[in-house]
Order: sequence, then C-alpha cells, then structure tokens
Amino acid sequence: MVAEIICVGTELLLGQILNTNSQYLAQKLAELGIDLYFQTTVGDNMERLKMAIDIATKRADILIFTGGLGPTSDDITKEAVADYFGLKLVLDEDVLRRIEKFFERRQVMMPQINKKQAYVPENAKILHNKNGTAPGLIIEKDGKIAILLPGPPFEMQPMFEEEVLPYLEKFSKQKIYSRVLKFVGIGESSIEEALKDLILSQTDPTMALYAKPFEVELRITTKKESVELAKSLLQSMEYRIRERLGEYIYGVDRQLLEEVVIGLLKEKKLKVSVAESCTGGLICNKLTNVPGASEVFDRGFIVYSNEAKMKLLGVPEQVLKEHGAVSSQTARFMAQGALSNSLADIALSVTGIAGPGGGSETKPVGLVYIGIATKENVESFEFRFSGDRLRIKEMTSKAALNILRK
Ligand code: ATP
Ligand code: MG
Repeated sequence: MVAEIICVGTELLLGQILNTNSQYLAQKLAELGIDLYFQTTVGDNMERLKMAIDIATKRADILIFTGGLGPTSDDITKEAVADYFGLKLVLDEDVLRRIEKFFERRQVMMPQINKKQAYVPENAKILHNKNGTAPGLIIEKDGKIAILLPGPPFEMQPMFEEEVLPYLEKFSKQKIYSRVLKFVGIGESSIEEALKDLILSQTDPTMALYAKPFEVELRITTKKESVELAKSLLQSMEYRIRERLGEYIYGVDRQLLEEVVIGLLKEKKLKVSVAESCTGGLICNKLTNVPGASEVFDRGFIVYSNEAKMKLLGVPEQVLKEHGAVSSQTARFMAQGALSNSLADIALSVTGIAGPGGGSETKPVGLVYIGIATKENVESFEFRFSGDRLRIKEMTSKAALNILRK
C-alpha cells in the first residue's frame, strides 16, 4: 500500500504558514513502514483539489488529507472528496450533538454554519475531534482509502495518534525503529571520527548524524518485523557507542538538556540561580519550561548594564573597568553574586557578545564567558561561537546548561 499526503489550504501556497502537518504525517508513515512517494499541497479551490485527488488516486492507495474541514465556505475538502467518489453527504445526528456540546461547554451559541460539519459522506468512519468541531473521516471506496483530518495541528495530531494509527497498522510492512543519542560538548566531525568504523561498516542498523546548535544527534535506525529484534539490535549498538563517547551523551530520543539538568539538580537536592547577560533570560526560560522546575530553580538575574551587574550582583566597578563586562573575571563575579544574592547552592552566569555589533579584534562577536559558583569554588570557561545573534544566544545557553550538567 502506498500513501499520499494532500494538504489543503491557500495559506500554505502563499507561504503564510509552514506545512508542519505534512512533516508530522510523513514521519508517522515512515515509522509505520508505509511507503510515501508524493506529497501534494493545493489551495482551497474545488477544481484544483479534485485534480489533485484524481492524480493521487492513480499513484497511491491511501490518501491522507489535512485542512479544509472547517465550517466556512472556503473549507471544501469533504465536499470535494465525497463528490469525487460519488458519495452523498448525510446528516449525522451523533456528530451534530457532539458539536452542539462543544459549544455548550464554552457557553457560546453554536453558529448555524457549524451544522455543515455534521454532514458526513455515507458509510464513512467518523473520527472524533477532542479539540475542535470538525470530525475526521475515513472513507473506503473503489479500493482506495481517503482519510480526512482537520488542519490545526493540535486537533489533527491527537486524532491521528488515537484513531488513525491503529487503523493504518494493518497496512504496515516492516516498521522502522530508531533510537536517538543526544550529544553535547562535542562536534559532529569528532563523533564521526570516533565512530568511523561503526558508521562505515554498518548496514543494519544504519546511523546518521544531525548537527544542531551546540548539540549533535545520532539516529540509529533499523527496519524489522519484530519489536524485540529491533530493540536488541539498537541496544547493542548504543552500548558500543556509549563505550567510546558516553561522557558526551546527555540524553536519548526526545529528552532535552534542560530536562536532564533539572533532573540531576533534583537528585542532588541542589538549588540553582542564573545571572544572564547576552542570553537575556533564555537559560531561565529553558530551565523553567521543565515541569517541576521551581523545586530547584531559585531565581534569575538579567543584567545588561554595568550598573545592574554592580548593584544586583556586586561585580566590582574595578573589574568591569579593567577587564570589561565580557571577561572571565566578570563571569566569575557574576556567578558569585548570583550565589550570594539568592538561596541557591550553585549559580551560573553568562556574559558575551551576541552581535552583530559590539565586537572588536580582541573581543570578537561570539566570544562568551560562562561562570559557575558554589560556596567552595568558582570557575569560568571561554567559548568562541559563530553565527547570528539568536544562534549565539542558543549556543551559549546550551553550553551553560552543559556546564551545570557536569
Ligand atoms: P478550521 O475549522 O480551523 O477552519 P480546517 O480543518 O478547515 O480547520 P484549515 O482551515 O485548512 O483547517 O486550517 C486551519 C488552520 O490550521 C490554519 O490556519 C493553520 O493554522 C492550521 N493548518 C492548516 N493546515 C496546516 C498544515 N498543513 N500545517 C500546519 N498547520 C496547518
Ligand atoms: Mg478552515
């Protein structure tokens, strides 16, 4: 069975929104082991949508649509598909009641146009929408399958996970299993060098490196019929990689560096404070994105002016004058200041030049100092990053979190 994704929406063609639905669905199909040869994007236009359906039915068996299930007149996906397959739209009382309830819960009157969403092609399987009014639909006709899903990702994704995935499972051949190892503090080429023999000689599982700002992901992938076989293959490869580079691996799969750091702080029962110049609160933001962060996160200081560094953190004026705000000395005083002006056991500080202006020969854009202080010790580290302002901020925050991890 071959699938095709058809995303409907003029806003996609105009580049007003990014087509994240096709990325999501393509990933899911790959994991299921269902072949996908084409993705189509088409506007909210009946004639061209039907043309897209016609082409897709000639080269695929499963057509997965997103978008155009809303109540407004530009939402025409259901009408186009029903018309193409020669199916009548009939009022489904159960769907209508669900839509009415959806509005009742919000204590608003249901606009009359929403009744349109309760009309479904005859014999279609209904997929309930937890987060919206448009039901999804599965239509089987003439040996083809059409799956219609709403456009908004927060409506489409849970519907896919809960109802479409189990439905599609019967069409999947060998599933793809993968394990992602996440590295920090080591470059892509150094990883490749350390694992060269494994990467080159390996055909199953295969391995691929993917560099992100101050992070590298290594995806180990295998196609197998049995879960157990796949798991043991991935595990033994992971073991061999960890033997060589374990110290750089902070996590796996979807784990984030900040989650790992918060977990470690909880384990060690340590509270942290952060003083940020250059990253403008990004480190605090990342840390506090982790649920339960307040158990270990005491406070943050965002200090851009010299006055703020002196007043809030007690950085001596002399140090700022002699070494400058971007210096290892300032980073250390900032960390010590964040420690003594908070309830933390450990304090982190960053100061740097995010650019594009402000650099000089001796202190170029991308120069960053990170300080870390405990009651016993204070240290600082120098980094030289490159890229635009946001990339430098991102890399700095990752480097700082990695120092906290250690
Ligand atoms: P609604 O009931 O909200 O009108 P719909 O099923 O008719 O839903 P669309 O009108 O096509 O869907 O899109 C609604 C919104 O969903 C878009 O404005 C956009 O924010 C999001 N969306 C639609 N298609 C995609 C896509 N392919 N990728 C990411 N987001 C999308
Ligand atoms: Mg719509």
